[in-house]
Amino acid sequence: MKLIFEKSVKGRHCDLLPKCDVDLVELPESLRRETAPALPELSEVDVARHYTELNHRVHGVNCGFYPLGSCTMKYNPRIDEDMASLPGFAGVHPLAPAYAVEGCREVLDTAARYLCELTGMQGMTFQPAAGAHGEFTGVLLIKQYHDKRGDVKRRKIIVPDSAHGTNPATAAMCGFEVVNIPSAPNGCVDLEALKAVLGEDTAGLMLTNPNTVGIFDENILEITRLVHEAGGLCYYDGANLNAIMGVVRPGDMGFDCVHMNLHKTFATPHGGGGPGACAVGCKDFLCEFLPASALMEGPGHIQVRSFAGNFLVVVRALSYLLSLGREGIPEAAQNAVLNANYLMRRIQGSFDLAFDRVCMHEFVLDLSRFKKETGVSALDVAKSLIDYGMHPPTMYFPLIVHEALMLEPTETESKETLDWAADIFRALYELGYTDPETMHEAPHHAQIGRPDEVRAARNPILRWQKPEGCHG
Ligand SMILES: *Cc1c(COP(=O)(O)O)cnc(C)c1O
Repeated sequence: MKLIFEKSVKGRHCDLLPKCDVDLVELPESLRRETAPALPELSEVDVARHYTELNHRVHGVNCGFYPLGSCTMKYNPRIDEDMASLPGFAGVHPLAPAYAVEGCREVLDTAARYLCELTGMQGMTFQPAAGAHGEFTGVLLIKQYHDKRGDVKRRKIIVPDSAHGTNPATAAMCGFEVVNIPSAPNGCVDLEALKAVLGEDTAGLMLTNPNTVGIFDENILEITRLVHEAGGLCYYDGANLNAIMGVVRPGDMGFDCVHMNLHKTFATPHGGGGPGACAVGCKDFLCEFLPASALMEGPGHIQVRSFAGNFLVVVRALSYLLSLGREGIPEAAQNAVLNANYLMRRIQGSFDLAFDRVCMHEFVLDLSRFKKETGVSALDVAKSLIDYGMHPPTMYFPLIVHEALMLEPTETESKETLDWAADIFRALYELGYTDPETMHEAPHHAQIGRPDEVRAARNPILRWQKPEGCHG
């Protein structure tokens, strides 16, 4: 497929700009371009077809099953999009005076109240642009807390080895030393390993619960008690909130600070780099360290983004919360858990489960035996799924399981879809023993098969280069 720049034809255009109704202002020479920008020149129908063609080449939740573990690719109800496109929200200017955007402020305040209630927190900010950015904000709250008390020897953040890579990255970005602790054989925090590293230098612990292998840590109250006893704080990575929302609260588990990936749990289309938004909540005693933003008051020692954050994602989240309501929110979580357990048991008997126990909203397959017996890897299975119109699960994560495939079906899938998916997994398991070659070469029907991943990582070509002699 050609890039839009390559489709450009000199002189073709579709400018439908309205007549200018304000006085022209001459820009000072220093701000003016010397040459016109190299924009592609196309007619409207060319542009429409270009983007429609691109649209046909990607797989999204609206195309089919998308069990990408940890990412919560649930269906996004249309009503949330409708709310986010209301002109009073979509068209608001970031520099509009506060009196003109009372409605937006009410959205932020109401969403903050509901999310505080859901998580057991007392303060909330919507400034961060995504989950990882929220972690950064939350760990800065922990840092400011220790600094203000003059407790500067607390330099270490504890992170279990099952954690998402963003957790240790966050701790390092905030200037802490990362202390990794191994998981127990059941995938949960090893209490003895935790006790061994806790001390006067502990700033805090970052934890996901349910964790990245889809298991709720039954020792959670003991874990947070131990960290507090050592003088540290507890950070909750809320990327897995979809499993527990409206059922249990991080605040009641003993966490002091939490982030929510609004795009994951609260139904904003995401993937491919955006858009995202993150809410970071904290207990009372940390509120004084929250960032200030254009519409939400805060003391503002830190600022992590401009204006009020990715506001329209917050609108979608509030719309989602209001449309599901007090009964619908826990029901969504329970169905997410039910669907994961159903799919896990339907696949069981073919690929091995990494942990054979009741899971939460996601589960992990361990393909190491399968690979040893057939030579077919988790990557081969993932690539084969593409030919069936299914998005592959998360691969090779969490790192504590070898040849891992991690599946999160979400609550928005029907029993028919789950049965269809399970049958495909079982068929691919059989195929591994009868025709492994086919799987090594999959996908056979996709637009792009197997890119050279090392080259793509080492020498990424991220922008179009204008060829010699090209106009524009
Ligand atoms: C997705 C995820 C993150 C990072 O969130 P982004 O919104 O992608 O930045 C952090 N932790 C876990 C467990 C996640 O699944």
